[in-house]
Amino acid sequence: MQRVVVVGGTHGNELGGIYLCRKWTPAPRYWQNYPFAVETYLANPKAIDLNQRYVDQDLNRSFRSADLANPDLSSYEAQRARLIASDLAGADFIVDLHNTTSNMGLSLIFSGTDSFGDPLIRQLCAHLVQSEPLVHVYHMPVPAEINPYLPSLGQRELTLEVGPMAHGTLRADLFFKTEKLVQTLLDYLADWARGEAHTYQGELTIYSHVQSLDFPRDANGDLAGMVHPHLYGRDYKAIRNGHPLFVTFEGRELLYQGSEEVYPVFIDEQAYYEKHYALSLTRKVQIPI
Ligand SMILES: [Zn+2]
Repeated sequence: MQRVVVVGGTHGNELGGIYLCRKWTPAPRYWQNYPFAVETYLANPKAIDLNQRYVDQDLNRSFRSADLANPDLSSYEAQRARLIASDLAGADFIVDLHNTTSNMGLSLIFSGTDSFGDPLIRQLCAHLVQSEPLVHVYHMPVPAEINPYLPSLGQRELTLEVGPMAHGTLRADLFFKTEKLVQTLLDYLADWARGEAHTYQGELTIYSHVQSLDFPRDANGDLAGMVHPHLYGRDYKAIRNGHPLFVTFEGRELLYQGSEEVYPVFIDEQAYYEKHYALSLTRKVQIPI
């Protein structure tokens, strides 16, 4: 491992990662002790200046290999994605810092289809889960050739989603928890690279993506309801058949119907209204570390 990159501002209004990268530029002195280089990188400067998610299109959906190879794509983010792909080429580990309006604590998100076939990823997750009670591991696999996410440029990738934090704002408690967790992660990677990492036994709990659900909508496609108050803020809490998901503006409840116990995440994420996602359902899985 030679090059680790901590990315902020992939979404220009997710201020936690942006200000952490700024705090860490220039690099803290103790990073010189790591057996690899660590860099910070602000991914979408124009959107950061505007304090908005993106300028033309979602940068964090702009990294499919076919799109990167297509010079005709001319939006600001498409051009930015090609530059970033060149800048970050060869990075051994990319940590992409995000914020969410959902109550997801500190979520470690992996998009590789075989992320957990990697012993370092399993051990790193075990280490981070035991370091901070708000940490959860979420696996949302996408085949490599159509993976649209920025950190997929790295040999290894991690998206850190921290919330609840309103977009365009900061929360001091979550800012410092993010800083501490990323430092813990870098320390563990350094120990691993030196062959000195503590290794864990037993099982790791992973929340594995099942599907995303849209809000109820009327015939015109407009919202017909909202996340139910009994679900709101309850990310990573189990629901079973009959649990309320939505309530219409008339007060009618819409219930979860399914035989399987599932764990909702990204509940009412503000940025996903445009994507027509109200929440995602996951399944809780135990894997051997
Ligand atoms: Zn984001």
